[in-house]
Amino acid sequence: MNLIKTKAIFLKILPYKEFDSIVCFYTEKMGKVEVKIKGAKRIQSKLIGFCQPFVQSTLFIAKGKNIYHLIGGEIDKKFEKINCNYLKLFLVSYVFELVDKFTKLNKPEKIIFSLILKTMESIEEYKPGQAFIVLYAFIVKFISFLGYAPELIHCVNCNKKIKERTLFFNIKSGGVVCLDCHQNKKIKGSRLEFKTYELILLFLYKNFDFWMNKKKISLKNLKEATEFIDKLAQWHIDEELSSGKVLRQFIKIYA
Ligand SMILES: [Zn+2]
Repeated sequence: MNLIKTKAIFLKILPYKEFDSIVCFYTEKMGKVEVKIKGAKRIQSKLIGFCQPFVQSTLFIAKGKNIYHLIGGEIDKKFEKINCNYLKLFLVSYVFELVDKFTKLNKPEKIIFSLILKTMESIEEYKPGQAFIVLYAFIVKFISFLGYAPELIHCVNCNKKIKERTLFFNIKSGGVVCLDCHQNKKIKGSRLEFKTYELILLFLYKNFDFWMNKKKISLKNLKEATEFIDKLAQWHIDEELSSGKVLRQFIKIYA
C-alpha cells in the first residue's frame, strides 16, 4: 500500500455517506487533497479528531483506487485562541475559503502550506484588533504566490520605475500607473494614496511578525489598503466570497 506521511491543515468537510466523511485538507506534500475518513461520524472513531478545524496534524494517507483514505495520524498543534475568539475564527475561515477557491486538488505547493500555517500561527498570537491585518497580508502574499502579484514597482504602461508620490492603479492591468501615463490618458487608473501604496508594499514584502511591533498605522490608509486588496482579490476570484460581506462588517468595528 502506498502510504504518505504529510503535515496537514483541515480546510472543510464534505457531505458523504452515513458514517463516513470526506475531509478536504491542505497538505505539505500533496497540496489540497480530499481524504475519506471511515467511520468519522461514529463517536468512538479515533480519526474524528482530524475532522476539526484549527488543528495542524501529521497524517498517514493511503492511496486507494479512486480516493485517498486516512489511516491515522497525530495532532501537532491546536489553535486554541483561534477556536475561542469569534473574530479570529472568522478570519481563519476566510483564509480557508480563499485557499479552497483558488487551489486545485493534488497540486503540491509547499510555499502555500507554509503561508497558511504561518497565517494561522500569527492570527493565534495577535490581539483580535490586529489580527485582521494578518489576513490582508495573507491575501496579498497568497495571490502573489499564485502568480497574480500586483505590479507595484514599475508603471504597467511605460515600465518606468515609480518615483513620484502621485500614483494610480489600474486593476485590469494589475499594477501601478505613473502620473505621466495617467495625465496623457495612455492608461486610466484610480488614485492610490502614497501612504496606502507603502502599506500595500509592506503587506506584500514584510513577514507577519513585523506587524506585531508596528504600533502606528493610519486608519485611513489601512482602510484604503484593505479595500484595494479586496478589489484585487475579487478581480481574480471573479465572485464574492461568502464571507466577504461579514469581513467588511468586522473591519468597520475593528479598523
Ligand atoms: Zn507610465
